[in-house]
Amino acid sequence: MQKEDKLPSGYPDSYYSATALGILEYPRLGGDEKADVCVIGAGFTGLSAALNLAEQGMDVILLEAERIGFGASGRCGGLVGSGQRKDVLEMETTFGYERSRRLWDLAEQAKEEIRHRVAKHSIACDLQQGQLVGVHKRRYRGWPQELSDALAERYDYPYCQSLDAEQTRARVATDGFLESFYDPHALTLHPLNYTLGLAKAAAGMGVRIFERSRVRRYSRSKPSVIKTEHGSVVANHVVLACNGYLDKLERRVARKIMPINNFMIATEPLGEQRAKKLIDGRFGVHDTRFVVDYFRLSDDHRLLFGGGENYRREFPADIAKFVRPYMLKLFPQLSDAAIEYAWGGTLSVTVNRLPYIGRLRPNLFFGCGYSGHGISTAIFAGKVIAEAIGGNTERFDVFRDLPTHMFPGGTLLRYPGMVLGMTYYSLKDRF
Ligand SMILES: Cc1cc2nc3c(=O)[nH]c(=O)nc-3n(C[C@H](O)[C@H](O)[C@H](O)COP(=O)(O)OP(=O)(O)OC[C@H]3O[C@@H](n4cnc5c(N)ncnc54)[C@H](O)[C@@H]3O)c2cc1C
Repeated sequence: MQKEDKLPSGYPDSYYSATALGILEYPRLGGDEKADVCVIGAGFTGLSAALNLAEQGMDVILLEAERIGFGASGRCGGLVGSGQRKDVLEMETTFGYERSRRLWDLAEQAKEEIRHRVAKHSIACDLQQGQLVGVHKRRYRGWPQELSDALAERYDYPYCQSLDAEQTRARVATDGFLESFYDPHALTLHPLNYTLGLAKAAAGMGVRIFERSRVRRYSRSKPSVIKTEHGSVVANHVVLACNGYLDKLERRVARKIMPINNFMIATEPLGEQRAKKLIDGRFGVHDTRFVVDYFRLSDDHRLLFGGGENYRREFPADIAKFVRPYMLKLFPQLSDAAIEYAWGGTLSVTVNRLPYIGRLRPNLFFGCGYSGHGISTAIFAGKVIAEAIGGNTERFDVFRDLPTHMFPGGTLLRYPGMVLGMTYYSLKDRF
């Protein structure tokens, strides 16, 4: 768990917590409870699992160590890309067309699930459309056209465009992109408000939510006994939805994921005109770097910018100072813009950048390792885990069957290798 300052609300001091709508207080678990399912962790994975389970008529308890959306889900960039973390060209090379197509279709269903929840529960999370991927290096030239063609020809997705340097610059005022890929049906959202909306919907469906209730241990039995400091839950099924914050709770999952920290800043409000000059629309943007820079405008005309990672337990002492140079490299014209918020979060990555979703025992499920493509994948992981608990494993099995690898060195020695690897690739990106 990161050492960081928390506001009295229990949330980090982020742009998202400052603009959160309708934060409700859920009680701390203080006694002995029973449920059909106990979900551990209230980010996208856990909230989606809990809500979908409740809709199946199950009795669900959701235990969150801190607050709803406290983890990566309430801190992230808010960019919901189409497809999986790897594009379909890479997926076809690894898996062949049929499997790549199946995973693409599931990712489309994941985006639909997001839209569906926003509409069904009237979640005010500033849902917007569109994503531009800027090519930062000559090596990736031609990729936008190749990907747009593949999606149109083989994936029934004829909407994307390849934009040349001039067209790209007309949309994003940076000299940093040589060309770009534009997907009008990707999404962006206010991630913390989305989690708060899911929680409210889940509570409305009868999910018993407990905040500030960190799970210390659970038994590998059926039913399982899940213990927090002040109470316990006896449940037939357990869903582990702790992602990068899993720590030592379940080593068998932890050894296949690596927690990493990523950081964001929000400028002061730039005013409508200046913001529009910077990015002509409310779409999300990221580049083709190994450690991506990503950004978008907020509805109050700030630039929300994410960039830079570290692999330690601590965040940099001055996150604004850490992230600002990444922003200025792309947007030197923002050198006079004050940074009003700076925060970090922890996500988890896998060796092959594919999600790690599965079950350890017939009654013990987990979803994590979304490798930076976690909004739609986590939300969908929660949904397919709920389906599997309900007895329908069709979509769950597609993810369960994805290959997974241990980090060399297991949970103990994975860091040095990982740090070397990540540093190598990010340096290769820059030079
Ligand atoms: C800065 C940043 C930017 C990102 N940007 C994007 C983006 O633009 N697009 C995208 O698709 N993805 C992005 N991601 C990744 C994405 O946010 C995650 O993949 C996703 O939110 C994971 O959701 P989750 O529910 O699995 O995990 P989390 O949201 O991390 O939730 C895990 C929860 O479990 C709780 N928990 C942990 N241990 C316990 C315990 N023992 N007992 C009870 N509760 C526990 C934690 O407190 C936490 O609330 C970003 C991540 C970060 C950090």
